[in-house]
Amino acid sequence: MSAAPTPRVLILDDDEAVGRTAVLVTARLGMGARWTATMPDFLAAVDEWDPTHVVVDLVMPDHDGIEVLRTLGERDCAASVVISSGVGSRVLDAARRSAMAHGLKITAVLPKPFAAADLRAALLSPGSPRPAGDEEVAAGPPVGGDELRGAIDGGRLRVEFQPKVRCDDLTPVGVEALVRWDHPSRGVVPPAEFIGVAEDGRLIDDLTDEVVRQGVGWLAVAAPPGLRRLAVNISASSLTDLGLADRLQALCAAAGVTPDRVTLEVTETGAMADAGKALDVLTRCRVKGFRLALDDFGVGYSSLVQLARLPFSELKIDRTFVMDIPHSREARTIVRAVIGLGHGLGLSVTAEGLDSPEALALLRADGCDHAQGFGVGRPMRPTDLAEWTRRSDRGGGSHLGGGVTADG
Ligand code: C2E
Ligand code: MG
Ligand code: MG
Repeated sequence: MSAAPTPRVLILDDDEAVGRTAVLVTARLGMGARWTATMPDFLAAVDEWDPTHVVVDLVMPDHDGIEVLRTLGERDCAASVVISSGVGSRVLDAARRSAMAHGLKITAVLPKPFAAADLRAALLSPGSPRPAGDEEVAAGPPVGGDELRGAIDGGRLRVEFQPKVRCDDLTPVGVEALVRWDHPSRGVVPPAEFIGVAEDGRLIDDLTDEVVRQGVGWLAVAAPPGLRRLAVNISASSLTDLGLADRLQALCAAAGVTPDRVTLEVTETGAMADAGKALDVLTRCRVKGFRLALDDFGVGYSSLVQLARLPFSELKIDRTFVMDIPHSREARTIVRAVIGLGHGLGLSVTAEGLDSPEALALLRADGCDHAQGFGVGRPMRPTDLAEWTRRSDRGGGSHLGGGVTADG
């Protein structure tokens, strides 16, 4: 990598007038600038000049920009990427996603024709963050059923709690329990790595019981006053177990917690898999007083008929939509429609993955009830949650409103 201090902007656009104007604007910003009109010239310049920024037009006669972006991704290009084109916002949005999936750092999307000021702003932008959520997980061999069995029996599973707040005034309303495995050699193993193992090895009931036991235990003795509700995730495979409602009820009774304080979150895929059985199991839970939330709505196998038939009390919009609302008109439209759908069915609506004040403002404007996300608070240990609640009483639990950073 060159260590030259001046930013180097490489432009790919088959339209010479656009290319020359872009070079002019860039040069006025004190940045180095080069224009290329074809994909081969552009890629040669990437290799030779090592640009810090690239501006890529999506539609060109010899190649398309998607191919260019894929090639940049394959070459592990570290430059900030500005995508430009006159193809319409849906296509631009799809191109942005695909480029991010290739690991590129997309700093701006510029619909054409763009003004010089737009290009300037795009080049000076600090860069939109890579989609969070999808943090890399420490690599390791897949976990085995026996090992997981040992962890459940040996008390090495614990829960973290992620707060959930009202959108209008950020008042905390409850928490979601998220399981963690303290592994002796691998550190903290996230649920994505072992929930499937638990389901396949028929360990999921024991895992769920352990999470519920810890969750309601905390609710009974340690929950800060504002946090009255607990949500737990229920695996798809448990929705065929007719004894589920009785087991959960017994765990609540043992802790002295009434089921109406506990929400069972099921994923869309799971809820819809065997709709007849799921209807029985979920209705039994509802009759006993548990609340039901349809989790990750929008990314599974949606069936609006099932949504209407199953006795849900809450709809949780998947974070992939929520995170995108500040910069994607399509995501905003979907989120707004899902809020309307939920309210129309009498459900409360929670946005997952709230991570910015901009997203919060849009959710408020669209009437969303509750929100959860790193911007509100990350999943945390009970002791940290107590501290988070104290800060939130002073208006600073989240870093969306009070201006105080809640967590790292
Ligand atoms: P979920 O129920 O949708 O839980 C939310 C997940 O999104 C959590 O990941 C949480 O850390 C993450 N998250 C929340 N806010 C943000 C945000 O602003 N940005 C990003 N990037 N991520 C955010 P986690 O803890 O890794 O859990 C992943 C999934 O594993 C859960 O998704 C749930 O489906 C499953 N899971 C977790 N605990 C349990 C459990 O006890 N039982 C079962 N069956 N499944 C569980
Ligand atoms: Mg959940
Ligand atoms: Mg979810």
